[in-house]
Formats: sequence, structure tokens, C-alpha cells
Amino acid sequence: MNEPIITVRIQNDERVVASSAFPLELLAIVAGLRIASKRPGLRKIVTDCEAALKLLSSPEKLNYWGNKANVALIKAAIALNEGKGNIEHAHSHPESRLHKTRWTRNDNGNFIADRVAVGDYGSLSEYKQLNFIETNTFDVITDLACIQTWFIASDDGVINLSPLVELAQANEAKLYLAERDVWHHKRLGREKDAPVEAFWSDRTLQHAAVIWELGTANTKNTARAQRIIFDKHWHSWNQAKADADIKTMCERCGEEDSLRHLLVECQHVHGKEVRDECIATVRHDLLYNVNMENREFADLLFTLITTDPDKHCMYTGLWTSGLRQRLAEGLSCLQTKYTKKKLEEWKKILVRTGQTLTQAARSLSGLRFQEVDEMPRHTAMSFKERIAEARKDKAGRKSEQAKKRKKALAKKKNRLTSLGLVNKNPLSEDENPLSLGDGNPSSTVDEHAHNFLDTLLDLLELEGSQNVSEAFSIGGVT
Ligand SMILES: [Zn+2]
Repeated sequence: MNEPIITVRIQNDERVVASSAFPLELLAIVAGLRIASKRPGLRKIVTDCEAALKLLSSPEKLNYWGNKANVALIKAAIALNEGKGNIEHAHSHPESRLHKTRWTRNDNGNFIADRVAVGDYGSLSEYKQLNFIETNTFDVITDLACIQTWFIASDDGVINLSPLVELAQANEAKLYLAERDVWHHKRLGREKDAPVEAFWSDRTLQHAAVIWELGTANTKNTARAQRIIFDKHWHSWNQAKADADIKTMCERCGEEDSLRHLLVECQHVHGKEVRDECIATVRHDLLYNVNMENREFADLLFTLITTDPDKHCMYTGLWTSGLRQRLAEGLSCLQTKYTKKKLEEWKKILVRTGQTLTQAARSLSGLRFQEVDEMPRHTAMSFKERIAEARKDKAGRKSEQAKKRKKALAKKKNRLTSLGLVNKNPLSEDENPLSLGDGNPSSTVDEHAHNFLDTLLDLLELEGSQNVSEAFSIGGVT
């Protein structure tokens, strides 16, 4: 308690983007190694991040890990570590395991690091010779740049710690939406250099891919889904883009027609019946399939689905930034603590609700391919059947996946054992470097100073574990 201690707090800088907590754990280790390399005698790094440790102790697997986490940081760590085993593991959260009098030096260090990370200096008064240094991720990375390695940054200097493959794919998808915005504004006849608000850019592509289940859909269903998601059907309002004489009134109710009209506005009896059944299904789910702790979140979601000006985007999955903003505002009123567990429960609720809405979107759009006086192929009854069928299919797929995952884990364990790396437990999901936080249920996401909404959307993004451009086969969607 009386030896001199220096702490370095690396706060996240907005110029650095990380898609999970894992690269930040790596960054801290690399910073530690860098300091150690400057001070002979200072040679031991202790971390509670087991995933990082495993990774750094097996550089021969760099290629395997390369597309999962940030290659540049791993390379820097390996270069600095010079292949010597200077990093060791310590168990996290000694305060929940042992009485303070029984803490080892590592336990004390771990506790101090945890408190400093959240800026809670008040809990550390018993450490008499404690010195604090505050810095940020941007400055640390800038300093590390003199090691012979590299990082990815955007034109305005924002550094991205996401895996490379992910970056490339996200970029491709982003370019597609930006391109659409250019045409969108051209078509509306705006001046070339007039300021234009984004219409298609900045939407939640991965969320759409997840709720439309594009990862498992066949080609026909994927094509149909994409026509709805990107408003590509050959409906009158889209035909009118080529021929201004085409009338864009809804054939069924005479109002101005559009994707929004079709999904949430049209009051024609056939569409309304399906939509009402969908909303009733969603309401029932949010009331009876959501536990008490998440009831307020469910209420908020239902309010958005029924009243938000962009509610039609919840049917397509491409949330606008306004819609996300209103979700964030609603959440800030709940005054809840965002734990990893809670975020994952909310994500499940969001995905399940979104999937009900996509079924309605399919039916509503299907009705448009029938004559008004024909017997409707899509009714409240058929909607109910489709939902039941989709849920049965999904449950079947989930149990298939669970079996596969079990097999893969066993295989992974065998492989690691043969390399002599791990032989005790198979890697659990919490140890996966892509998982958020340290897997300890008591750790809270807001302690990591994450913007909550980003985290929620990150979780949505990670859940898909499929890449955006593959899911949408961007080349084909024009
Ligand atoms: Zn109508």
C-alpha cells in the first residue's frame, strides 16, 4: 500500500473508433509494453483480459486472428514483446472474490486499474503514493505509430480499430447508400452545391440484414427482401422517377403513394387488416414475452412503432438517424443501468419485433401485386400462420446452430490443446475477443464510457456475424 504507484488512464478519444472493447484492451497492453521498453527493469505486464493474452502468446496464429481483431495492434504488441513471455494473467474483480487483507500485489493492481479506468479516484485513498497520468487513445496511438506498424484512419484523422475485413465491407455498403443520396438529391432537382441532408446514408444495414434473416434466406427471398428494404419495387412512385406522367396515387385509397404509405399509412381494408394483426402480435409479444425488468424498454419500442414519424423504417430495418436519436432520448429517460446482459436482452427484443414487422412488410407488399377486387392472398389469418411458421423454422435453425457451435468448440479445444495453449476449458463465448467487456456480469457497459446507443447498435451489428455487403450483395442492388 505504501510503494510508489503510477497509473495511466487512457480515455477513449472520439478520433478513435473501436467496434468492441477488445482492441482497447489490446491498446492498453501495447501502451504498457511501450512504457516497459523505455524503462529497463520494468518488464512485467499483468492483464485480466485472457483473450488478449492468448492471442499475444501465439503469434504464429496471427493470420487466423487477423480478420477478427486489429492486426496493427497485435503486430505492435508482438514487436514490442520480442517473443518473450512478459505478459501474465491476473483474475479480475478481486473485490468480489477475496477480503482486502488477502489481496496479492496483482489483485491490488487490478483493483486500481479498474477504478482508474472509470475515473473513480475516491476509492483509492488508502494507496498513499499514487500518481495519476491522464491521456487518451488518440495520443497513445500517435505515439505508437513510430513503431514499425500502421493503422487505419479516415480523411479527417479518425482512427479505426475495427478489423480490416469489417472496415472494407462497411465502406462498400456506405458508398452504395451515399451514391443513392447523390441520385436522390439530383432527382429532386436540388442545386449541385446546396447543402443536402442524408436520406439513405447512415442507416442500420446490419440490423436490416439480421431481421430479414438474409444470412439464411434463399436467393428468391433475398431479392424480394432487398426490393422492400431499399424501396426498389416497380411501384408507381418508382416508375414515376423515369416518367413524370405516371400517377403516383394509391389505387386503393387515392392518397399519395409511397413505401411509407404502403407500410404504415394506407387505410384500405386488405392492408389494414394485415397491419393491425401485425401490431396486435407485436403488442402481445412485448406484453407477455418480455420480463418485468425490460417492460419499460418494450413500452418505448411500442411507442416508436406506433407513433414515430419514421416508423415505416422499423419495417425495413433501415433505421434513420432521427429514429435512432429518438430511441436514445427515450432510453435516457428510463434512467437504467446498461449492463451487458440487459443490452443483449434488448437486442433480442429488437430483433424479434423487427422480424414480426418484416413479415407484415412482405404481406403488405404482396397485396400490391393483386387486383383490388381479387380475393386477398394476404390476410390476418395468413399473417398469423406465416409468423407461427417463421418462428418454428427459427427455433429449428437455432437448435441446429447450437449443435454446430458445440462441435466447433470441441474442435477448437482440440486444436488449442495440440498447440499446447489451453487445455482446461473450451473457449466460452465470453472469452471470444469479439465479445464486449470482460465477460463478468457485474461489469457495466457505461463504466467503459461507451455511448449507449452505439453499443446497442454495435451489438446488433456483431450479432449478424455476416458481412454487410455479402448479405445485401451490394453489386446487385441498383
Ligand atoms: Zn392507400
